[in-house]
Amino acid sequence: MKKILTNLLIIIIISVFAVACGKKQQPMDLYDVIQQRGKIVVGVKDNIPPFSSKDKDGNYVGFEIDLAKKIASRLLGDENAVEFVTVTPSNRISMLNSGQADMIIATMTINTSRLSMVDFTEPYYIAGQTVMVKKSSKIKSLYDLKAKKIGVVFGTTANESIRTVAPSSLVAGFKTYDEAVDALNQGLVDGVAMDDTVLMGYKLKDSSLIAISQKYTQEPYGIALRKGTESTRVLEMLDGYISHAKSSGEINKLKAKWVK
Ligand code: GLU
Repeated sequence: MKKILTNLLIIIIISVFAVACGKKQQPMDLYDVIQQRGKIVVGVKDNIPPFSSKDKDGNYVGFEIDLAKKIASRLLGDENAVEFVTVTPSNRISMLNSGQADMIIATMTINTSRLSMVDFTEPYYIAGQTVMVKKSSKIKSLYDLKAKKIGVVFGTTANESIRTVAPSSLVAGFKTYDEAVDALNQGLVDGVAMDDTVLMGYKLKDSSLIAISQKYTQEPYGIALRKGTESTRVLEMLDGYISHAKSSGEINKLKAKWVK
């Protein structure tokens, strides 16, 4: 009898241990993490003026930087309670999902394939995609892209959209916009597909660059957060903030300041 009881006890202990080990540890609520840490960590671009870039002193500046500061002020009562980390189109989702950033504010279009990997707030800006060419180019519209070589940056929506709107063009991939634009200037590609917001910065630096006549997509930019309940509270707060900022004119003020 004693042996049976001992065996039973061992089985119970092993079962309890197995259940405890099998239980997936829930990540801590992002809002609590942020409050404990006392700052938000935001993934931003460092090369997309006027949305987000670095000034000559190495400080991040732009529309999306101001937006991040307003969010820090909303969540922590201090617009300087924010640390920026640089992301690229190719690594922004993995930087977010591996915990290196709490959120991504990086000219990032909300679309269905990304919605399977991250959560998005409602849009804070609507961009559109176009193709940048040299002013001297004969390419004026999408119809002139047949058999033309078009540069795109890996990890961007342009990489897919251009194949749909100009299926007979030849697509060449680049790691960065700078590399793609260098290739355009050297005549290695005939155009570069990109958002009008990205193009804006290049046009300001180089007046020989111009957009073709069409904007062939809508690119609603949202703030990306890790998928799941850990982000729900922050997501609701950010959505609340964005709709308030839209209706109160705060977003328009930011646009007027940065987007000429
Ligand atoms: N909005 C586009 C995207 O999310 C392009 C801008 C970017 O390079 O981030 O892919």
